[in-house]
Amino acid sequence: MLYSRQEKVIGTKAQKRLQKSKALIVGMGALGTVAASLLARAGIKELILIDRDVVEESNLPRQLLYTETDVGKSKAFCAKEKLEQINSQLRITALALHLNPQNIANLKEQNLSLILDCTDNLKTKLLLNDFCKKEKIPFIYGSAIKQQGQVMAIFPGGPCLSCFLKEAHAETCEQIGVLNTITSLVGTLQADLALKILIGQKQPSELYCLNLEKNSCRKLTVNTNPLCPACQGRYDYLNSTENAVFIKFCSSGKYQIDGRPLNLEELNQKLRGTVTTYFDGASLKIEKMLVFADGRALIAADSEQEAQAIYSKYVGN
Ligand SMILES: [Zn+2]
Repeated sequence: MLYSRQEKVIGTKAQKRLQKSKALIVGMGALGTVAASLLARAGIKELILIDRDVVEESNLPRQLLYTETDVGKSKAFCAKEKLEQINSQLRITALALHLNPQNIANLKEQNLSLILDCTDNLKTKLLLNDFCKKEKIPFIYGSAIKQQGQVMAIFPGGPCLSCFLKEAHAETCEQIGVLNTITSLVGTLQADLALKILIGQKQPSELYCLNLEKNSCRKLTVNTNPLCPACQGRYDYLNSTENAVFIKFCSSGKYQIDGRPLNLEELNQKLRGTVTTYFDGASLKIEKMLVFADGRALIAADSEQEAQAIYSKYVGN
C-alpha cells in the first residue's frame, strides 16, 4: 500500500506514527465495517475486531464489507478476511464474542492506542466508556438510527458518555429502521477522529449531531456532569454482575432472559414487516423467542451470547 496522497496532507512523521498504532473496534456492523476499512486503508498497524453476530441478509444494505455469499458467517472473522485483502500489512485479531464486565478485562494487556464504539447496544457503550475512563484510553462513540447520527471523541480526563447518556429502553434500528447514508457518515467521522487522535492531533470534546432528514450537522460542547458516576471513579457497568443473573440456562438449547416489562402490542406493531410474529394477547412470539409482558423471554439458542443477541435485536438492550 502506498500512502503518498495521504502523506501530502498529514506528513511523513504522522504517517509513521499511524503505522505504529493499534485500535480496537467493537461492533463490526454498519459503523464498524466503514471505520475499519478506512483505518485499514489509511495504514494503521493493528486492529482488533469484536462482534458477537453473524452476517444476515438484512445487514447487506449498510455493512459495506460483506456480500451475499457472506450470509451466515461470523462478522468479526469475515471482516478480518476482507480487510486482509485490502491491506496485507495490517495485523488483525478477530473475536466473536459479546463484551461483558468479565471478559473486557482481557483487553487490558492489549496496549490499545484507541477504542472505537461501533455497537448498537447502549449497555456495551456504557461498559466501554467505563473501561476507557478507568484504563485511560481515548474512546470514539458513534451511533445511528433512522436518519440521525451522533459521534464524539472522548478522552480519559474529559467529559464522558455517562455525562450525557443514560441507559433507557431505547428503540432499536430493528424496530424503527436506519439508512445506509447516515451509518456510513457516522463510521467515516469515527475513522476521521481516530486518525487525528492516533497521529497526535488534539481534539475538542464536541458531540456531532447529524440529521440527514433535515440536512443538518450541529456540534454541541459537552461538559463534565458533576453527577456522572464514571467521572467520579464509580464504574457501575464495569462492576456490574447483572449478566450473571440476567440470563438463565433453562434446558438444552433454551434460555430465559429477565428483562424490563414490555408493551407487547406496541412491540408487535413496531416489528411488523421485519419479522414474522404471533401475538396471542399474553405472549408475543418472535421467531425463536417467546416474550411475556413482564419482560421475561424464552429463547431457543445455542449459547448465552446468541440468546442475548436475539433479545437485543428484537426487544432492545
Ligand atoms: Zn462522565
